[in-house]
Amino acid sequence: MHGLAADGGLFLPERIPSFSKSFLENLRALSFKEIGYQTAKLFVGDEISESKLHEIIERSIDFPAPVVDLDNQLHVLELFHGPTLAFKDFGAQFMARTMEHFVKDDNRELVILVATSGDTGSAVAHGFYGVEGIKVFLLYPSGKVSAIQEKQLTTLDKNIVALEIHGTFDDCQHLVKSAFTDDDLKEKLNLSSANSINIARLIPQSFYYINAVKQLKSSGREIIVSVPSGNLGNITAGLIAKHMGLPIAKFIAATNSNDVFTNYLSSGKFEPRKSVQTYSNAMDVGNPSNLERVRSLFGDNLENMESEIASFSFNDDETVDGIKEVYDKFGYVIDPHGSVGYLAMKKYRMRSLSLQHKTNYDAVVVETAHPAKFKDVVDNTINREIEMPERLAECMKKKKHSIILDSKFETFKDYLLGTVE
Ligand SMILES: *Cc1c(COP(=O)(O)O)cnc(C)c1O
Repeated sequence: MHGLAADGGLFLPERIPSFSKSFLENLRALSFKEIGYQTAKLFVGDEISESKLHEIIERSIDFPAPVVDLDNQLHVLELFHGPTLAFKDFGAQFMARTMEHFVKDDNRELVILVATSGDTGSAVAHGFYGVEGIKVFLLYPSGKVSAIQEKQLTTLDKNIVALEIHGTFDDCQHLVKSAFTDDDLKEKLNLSSANSINIARLIPQSFYYINAVKQLKSSGREIIVSVPSGNLGNITAGLIAKHMGLPIAKFIAATNSNDVFTNYLSSGKFEPRKSVQTYSNAMDVGNPSNLERVRSLFGDNLENMESEIASFSFNDDETVDGIKEVYDKFGYVIDPHGSVGYLAMKKYRMRSLSLQHKTNYDAVVVETAHPAKFKDVVDNTINREIEMPERLAECMKKKKHSIILDSKFETFKDYLLGTVE
């Protein structure tokens, strides 16, 4: 229920549990949900009853994560089949159902504040949509999110309220942070956050790596996975699955021009800086918060980290070339984030060839978002109108509802207090 530990650090399990031998040997016989249940159980222990955990899994892992073969060796893990068409739906839905379980006996409503620059907010909003006992306020910067993102943020009703702030994303974040330290608000409202560092969003992201290994047909080959990365949450979840015993030989952290992690891995120096805007905007992160978790998984030893992770970065021109190449070569439409993942996989392969390392492995590129979310870039690159998935087209037709506020804390505070009185 607390996103951050009291000392400002991030939560991790005290130890990473291991899969049993029989679990890994029988993977093929297990459904995605069964995999989710058995994995979650190792972390949850007796804190949640078996029947309740089944119910949480049943209601949160309710869309597929298929592996699509581009050729005999190269595969795409599609994580965009959820309600907001990006992988964050997995974490958001599981976290929402888990929080719902833990607040069900409270008589006070839980109030969740989320500042968003687009994608995180909509995943969280859809995750909590209709959840009993929880109300969500989304703060987004007016005019600074895409048309699709704004529709996804502002067309839910029930327990989700979109606050359109006249200001920047930083202003939104500042309002949320100020609320958490304001004594009046803390007394009158039961406040919580749901940002990406919450461990309940990370754990469920390990499920789809396990489910992906299950789907690969050529057993016995090594498996390499390329993850388009920003805050490093997704790759951390993959590393956790690996450390539990999942046979993945190597992870590749694919970054755009925001290449702080790529530089860290090659130089050992961590130099956070201001993010720059790119086509793969969900990876525009200048100070990746999950780095401390990655470090911790490797006992803060850079050499150990390098033995399990490679990293390459690509700029926007290369990203566009990647979209085009994947379309021309394989007839597959990939989004800008996935394109960065593809390019990193290709570079890794070239490095393997030049070092005369083996290249007979299964290469899995993680596709983190549906290409229709980035329609302009993708359409222009492949010279074709790509189709909008039904649920996105539906959402675009709905009417926007938002409450417009200026960026002063007093305005925000009065508004929040007004909702309880
Ligand atoms: C959030 C996001 C990423 C980056 O994931 P991290 O866990 O922050 O590394 C990549 N692609 C898409 C589409 C995203 O929404």
